[in-house]
Amino acid sequence: MTQNIVNTLSKIMEIDSPTGFFVKADDYLVDEFTKLGFAPVRQNKGGVMVDIGGEGRDICIAAHMDTLGLMVRNINANGTIRVINVGGLRAYYCLNANVRIYSRYGKVYTGTVRKANPSTHLMSDAENTELADYDTNIVVTLDEIVKSASDVEALGIRCGDSVAVESDFRITPSGFIKSRYLDDKASCAILIEIAKAVKNGQIKLNRHVHLLFTEYEEIGHGGAVIPEGVKDFLSVDIGCIGKDHYSDEQKVSIVTKDSRFPYHTQMLNEMVELADKHNIPYALDMMLPHYGSDGDVTLVAGYDVRHGLIGPGVLETHGYERTHVDALKATYDLVKAIIQ
Ligand SMILES: [Zn+2]
Repeated sequence: MTQNIVNTLSKIMEIDSPTGFFVKADDYLVDEFTKLGFAPVRQNKGGVMVDIGGEGRDICIAAHMDTLGLMVRNINANGTIRVINVGGLRAYYCLNANVRIYSRYGKVYTGTVRKANPSTHLMSDAENTELADYDTNIVVTLDEIVKSASDVEALGIRCGDSVAVESDFRITPSGFIKSRYLDDKASCAILIEIAKAVKNGQIKLNRHVHLLFTEYEEIGHGGAVIPEGVKDFLSVDIGCIGKDHYSDEQKVSIVTKDSRFPYHTQMLNEMVELADKHNIPYALDMMLPHYGSDGDVTLVAGYDVRHGLIGPGVLETHGYERTHVDALKATYDLVKAIIQ
């Protein structure tokens, strides 16, 4: 099972999906779930809902396909591109990363995020030590022969084009997965594999399950629209590893509170009980001080649901992230225990 999750994860990592650039990701999901025999439904704003069957108390389990990314802001006179982040992508986390720029006219160009004056030999001492910053010293250099703004405009690149930073996905023989966007494609891969296990009879549902793949979590409105009749909303998203936190790369995090709200106490108790019963390695943790979820948004949107949050422990979140296959397995096992 773990290998299947990794295979699916590596596939969806190849689909660029910075927030706002959702069509390729939604096409993939609709295609996959249709092939499995389900009837996926596209949300108007982007996002895909899939009823995977079962009877009993309705639960919606959500993960987000959108990732952090960049967007073209201006074309500079020297033919470099000034970009701005979409979601909380810090400039220093994407410095020197390779990118793909999606022009409105369907063409895709490659480039690299660099300092505006990128050669160390030519930097002043101040430039050498300054922090990367989109407003002042970061640009994308295109892998095209361009010397001026009009050269770039002639390629069809314009203000507002989506810029995807490459994931740099890799897995080590020791089971670590290193990549951008484990937040939250790791969880998406887990939910896709859950659906496959339901289809082939490995999981027998004890409740009515809706999967929701959202496209706007990174900017805060992914969970604002959910399927009819849902009573419980479970976000599957990352557990952040760091100082004062219990999350772990070999465990599923069960989140008690984030920076907005505490999670529903009974739902939390039920999940802890299940993890204990099935010997699933887990960490109870709080996500502070900067963390909100699709489930928080569902509550704010006015839905009367219980909400919960679980997910694999991930290191260096919103940067070059890392987790371990054990955390993926633990998360899969807990989702499975919740629905069967
Ligand atoms: Zn996330």
